[in-house]
Amino acid sequence: MHDPIPTVTLPSGISVPALGQGTWNMGENAADAAREIESLQAGLSLGLTLIDTAEMYAEGGAEKVTGSAIAGRRDEVFLVSKVYPWNASRRGTIEACDRSLQRLGTDRIDLYLLHWRGDHPLADTVAAFEELQRAGKIGAWGVSNFDVDDMQELLAVPGGENVAANQVLYNLGRRGIEYDLLPFCQERNIPIMAYSPIEQGRLLHHPDLIDIAKAYQATPAQVALAFVLEREGVIAIPKTSHPHRVEENRAALDLDITDEDWAVLDAAFPPPARKTSLAML
Ligand code: NDP
Repeated sequence: MHDPIPTVTLPSGISVPALGQGTWNMGENAADAAREIESLQAGLSLGLTLIDTAEMYAEGGAEKVTGSAIAGRRDEVFLVSKVYPWNASRRGTIEACDRSLQRLGTDRIDLYLLHWRGDHPLADTVAAFEELQRAGKIGAWGVSNFDVDDMQELLAVPGGENVAANQVLYNLGRRGIEYDLLPFCQERNIPIMAYSPIEQGRLLHHPDLIDIAKAYQATPAQVALAFVLEREGVIAIPKTSHPHRVEENRAALDLDITDEDWAVLDAAFPPPARKTSLAML
C-alpha cells in the first residue's frame, strides 16, 4: 500500500497532487507514442493526475500525446500547458490557447502558464489570461521561469495578483530558489512547480545520493524526488516514458528520510548562501 498523495492548494482553493507528470520530449517520434501514452495513463491510475505539457514540446506533439492519454478520462486530470513567450501578446495568447486546446482534445486547460519572459508586456499577457479564464477556456493562469524581480513586476500589473503558480527549475543540485524565490512564493501562497526534479537524470550518478538511496532500499531518483516533495507548497513534475519508472517515482512519496540523512544530503548539495539568478534549462 502506498501513502496517500499529498496535495498542494492553489490560490483558487483547488487541490492538486504534489507529484505530477512532465511531458517534455514526448511526441517527438511516432514509434514511441504508445509507450508515452501508456506511461501517462499508468501515472493517472496511480493518482499522478497533474500533467504538465507545453505548445513548445515537440512543437505540439507532446500536447497530442497528452490528449490521447487523457481521452475519455479528462475529468480525472489537472491539465497544465504553456504559451511560448513570442505568442504571449494580448491576441496571440488566445490564439495559442485555442491551438493547444485543439491538440489536447479538450475545451479546458486547468492551468495555463507563460513559459518564460519575453518581449510582450506582462500586462497584455495577463489581460489575455484573464479573458481566457472568463471564457472558461482556462481554469487559472501562472508563469514559469520567473525570478523574484519578475514576480514583483507581475504582481504590480492589473490582475497580476491572480497568478496561480510559478514553474521553475528546482532539484537537489539546483537549490538557488531556497534563498529567496521559494520563501517569496510560500509567503504569498503561490505554489512552485519544480521542473526537472531529477535534473533530467544527471543527478542519479551522484555518489552521496546513491549511498542514501541504498540505505532506504530506494533508488536515487526516489530520493531526489523526496527532497523536492518535502517542501511546503511545491509540486514535482518528473517526466518518464517508462511505466515501471512511473511506479518507482510514485513510491518516492512513501520514503521517510531521517533528519540525519537530510543533513548528509545538505552537505553534498549545499543550500544557497547568497542570491544567484534563477537557473533555467
Ligand atoms: P526530469 O528531471 O523529470 O528527468 C526526466 C529524465 O529522467 C528522462 O530522461 C527520464 O527518462 C528520466 N527518468 C525519469 N524517471 C526516472 C527514474 N525513476 N529513473 C531513472 N531515470 C528516470 O526532467 P524534465 O526536464 O523532463 O523535467 C520534468 C518536466 O518539467 C518536463 O517533462 C516538463 O513537463 C517540465 N519542464 C518545464 C520547463 C520550463 O521551462 N517550464 C523546463 C524543463 C522541464 P525516461 O523518460 O526514458 O524514463
